[in-house]
Amino acid sequence: MNVSDIRFALHGGAGVIDRASLSAAKEAEFRAELRRITESASAALKAGCSALDAIERAIIELENFPLFNAGHGAVLNANAEVELDASIMDGRTRACGAIAAAKTPKNPIQLARAVMERTEHVLLVGNGADRFAQSQKIATMPLEYFVTAERAEQQRQAASLGRVTLDHDSIFNPHDKKGTVGAVARDAWGNLAAGTSTGGMTNKMPGRCGDTPVIGAGTFADNNTVAASATGHGEYFIRNAVCFDLHAQMLYAGLSLRQAGARTLQRVADLGGTGGVIAIAADGSIELPYNSEGMYRAWFDGELVRVAIYAD
Ligand code: ASP
Repeated sequence: MNVSDIRFALHGGAGVIDRASLSAAKEAEFRAELRRITESASAALKAGCSALDAIERAIIELENFPLFNAGHGAVLNANAEVELDASIMDGRTRACGAIAAAKTPKNPIQLARAVMERTEHVLLVGNGADRFAQSQKIATMPLEYFVTAERAEQQRQAASLGRVTLDHDSIFNPHDKKGTVGAVARDAWGNLAAGTSTGGMTNKMPGRCGDTPVIGAGTFADNNTVAASATGHGEYFIRNAVCFDLHAQMLYAGLSLRQAGARTLQRVADLGGTGGVIAIAADGSIELPYNSEGMYRAWFDGELVRVAIYAD
C-alpha cells in the first residue's frame, strides 16, 4: 500500500454555464459540495479504501444531491418521467456493469455495480434493470422522489420549445445549472476505477440511451492506461467512443493522457459535440479537459484538493 499513489477526481457535468448568471451563493454551494465529497473520498482512499468503493461512494453522494442530474434531481424525459443511466468499471480486470432507462433505483450506480458483480451481463435496461434492483434488495423509489420542482419546470420549457437539451442549456434558468456526475480514482495499490451516473438529457425520447451507460463511451477503466468518466452531449460521445478512445491512444499510440485528451475532445468538437471528461492515468497524472463553457469538477492530486467550474 502506497498512500502517495492516491488520486481522485469527480465531475458534476459540463455545458453552457453562464458565469454572469450563476449567483455567488449557488456557486459556493456547488463548490462546497464538490470539495466535501472529494475530501471524503481521498480520506477514505488514504485509509485503504479501494478505487472501486471510493468512486461508488462518491457517486452515491452526488446522486443524492438534488442539484446534479443523477438520482434525486435527475432530468425528465418527454413523458415527464425519469430514465436513469449509470455505469461502473474496475480497471484491475475490466469487469464492468451498467443500467439504462431504469425508473426506480435510488442510487443507479449501486445497481450498475450489482450488474457487474452479480450477473453474467454488462448492461441491463428498462424494466429488466428495475426488476433486478428489487430482486437484489437494492433501494428503489417512486417517481416523486426523483422529480424536483425545477426539473419539472425545465422539462415543460423544453417540451414547449420542442427541444432535447443538456440541462446546462441556456433556455433554462441560468441560476440553476446542474449536470451528470462521475468519478475516477487510483487507490494505494495503483488500481484504477471509473463510474458515471445521469438522468440524461431533458425532454429526451422515452427509451433514449446516452453515453453514460455505454462502456467505452461514458466510462472506461484499465489499470494499464486510464480511468475516465465523460459528460456532455451523449450522442457525440458514443460516436467517438470517448473514454475508450483515450485508452486506445495511450495503449496503441503511446500518447500521454494530456495528448490523448486534447485529441479526443477535438474529435468530439469537430462533429459539433460539447462536453468533457475527467481522467486519471496509470502514472497518476490527472486531466480534466472540456470544450464547453465550464465543467463542475474537483480532484485530489496526491497533495491538495482543488475545485473548479470554469477555466479558473
Ligand atoms: N452525457 C449525458 C447524456 O447524454 C448528459 C450529460 O452529461 O449531462 O445522457
